[in-house]
Amino acid sequence: MTAKVAINGYGTIGKRVADAVAAQDDMEIAGVVKTRPSFEAKMALEKGYELYAASKKKLDDFRKSKIEVSGTLEELLEKADIVIDATPGDTGDEYKKLYEKHGVKAIWQGGEEHGLTGFSFNSEANYNNALGRQFARVVSCNTTGLVRVLYALDSEYGVKKARVTLMRRAADPGDIKTGPINALIPDPIKLPSHHGPDVNSILPGIDITTMAVKTSTTLMHLHALNIELKKTCSEEEIINLFGTRPRIRLVSSKDRIKSTAEAMELAKDLGRPRGDMWENVVWKDSIAINKGELYFFQAIHQESDVVPENVDAIRALLELEKDGMRSIKKTNTALGLATS
Ligand code: NAD
Repeated sequence: MTAKVAINGYGTIGKRVADAVAAQDDMEIAGVVKTRPSFEAKMALEKGYELYAASKKKLDDFRKSKIEVSGTLEELLEKADIVIDATPGDTGDEYKKLYEKHGVKAIWQGGEEHGLTGFSFNSEANYNNALGRQFARVVSCNTTGLVRVLYALDSEYGVKKARVTLMRRAADPGDIKTGPINALIPDPIKLPSHHGPDVNSILPGIDITTMAVKTSTTLMHLHALNIELKKTCSEEEIINLFGTRPRIRLVSSKDRIKSTAEAMELAKDLGRPRGDMWENVVWKDSIAINKGELYFFQAIHQESDVVPENVDAIRALLELEKDGMRSIKKTNTALGLATS
């Protein structure tokens, strides 16, 4: 029997997670929930997903637009084993009550606070602790990217201290409302930023401080990392370590990948759906040990790096697979993401 997954909030993250779930052989899409009869609602039907309206009030909007809906979110919850909640990050408390009422498990995204579920998830760092839980939160795109590298480094060499500057994309490519279009914004101006504490929601023992700048780009985030390790190691050893991780892709400026634009072009050339890059893109020629400290750059595709993590989180909460690395491998294989 395959697990039945509902997607509430079929936007940037929700539609990607839906396709990733549909690609697995141990889970299927029970239905997706839209608030408005948009082109995304039509596309969901074309893909063969059953469409549900967020509430009874919204049903009429769909019917007027002649878009076939199978019912409301509450009806979908009756037949789902688990919900991926990818609604904007301010509906958590309201929907949590609804999921509890219907006795359905749920996974939220990084726009919600850690406190909503009391458990924040990353596939490599804490899969075991997610087994059988009712609720979890997959951390944000930036936090996911940071946890992947910090967990690898901490497991192998011990992280004494991490200091990170995040250059954040201002908006997603399909977003016409957000900016800036011509400025750099220290965000937040009062330091440090929330990303460090968010990493600590998964890796509590790591001394990390972060600062962030909003930049006029839509493609990816760029992180500049400076890390003090407990054990000494060489640049070569760091490259080898990252090379063994399932969701880190090493690239080189020598191959003419010198920017986030070229990293995105690589994802398209790899034939990825929507041009997505699920892995952290780490420049191996940026990896440097200087005065005993590690430095490197990585790029994070904000629209997609959390997608495979959501698939693993479903498997953990429903206990479809008890072993985290086996789930990661299964997810990666189904998506066509090379596993070393
Ligand atoms: P989005 O705006 O692209 O999609 C949200 C979807 O939810 C839209 O289709 C919207 O119509 C729908 N929606 C709005 N209110 C709703 C309601 N009350 N009930 C049901 N559906 C509703 O947002 P997104 O970028 O996909 O973000 C979703 C979550 O993922 C947020 O928590 C966000 O912080 C997180 N996240 C976003 C990114 C990113 O870069 N886009 C990356 C990682 C995590």
